[in-house]
Amino acid sequence: MICPNCDRVDMFSVSREKTVYEYRNVYSDNKKEHKSADNHHKYKGPWKLEETVVSDEMTLRCSACETDVDIKKVKGIGEIKIDKAKGVVFVNDFFDQFNVSGKTEKQRKGDRRIKKERREDNESQDK
Ligand SMILES: [Zn+2]
Repeated sequence: MICPNCDRVDMFSVSREKTVYEYRNVYSDNKKEHKSADNHHKYKGPWKLEETVVSDEMTLRCSACETDVDIKKVKGIGEIKIDKAKGVVFVNDFFDQFNVSGKTEKQRKGDRRIKKERREDNESQDK
């Protein structure tokens, strides 16, 4: 598939946000050895890791131009499904492009809504 931003081929990747919380203890007393000549309270030691938080939200990006990709702009693709373990499903927009079903846009939107509701029903049964 071609990146809509830079036209490079097969450079897609999935990105997620990972937040690292670190802390560093600091002397707050007024002992001379705990302060610098210009009055900074010195650190007691190096940075320590408190927590790493990984976001569940994942986005498609292009590794070549390093931008997030708007999937609607990728030729032939209607939507994507990202599974953090298995990979990415690219769903083509064949029916949107050619309207093979002969249905109106309103009917197709209705079909999508029904499918979505069915999917949500299935998901709630899985839990
Ligand atoms: Zn690109």
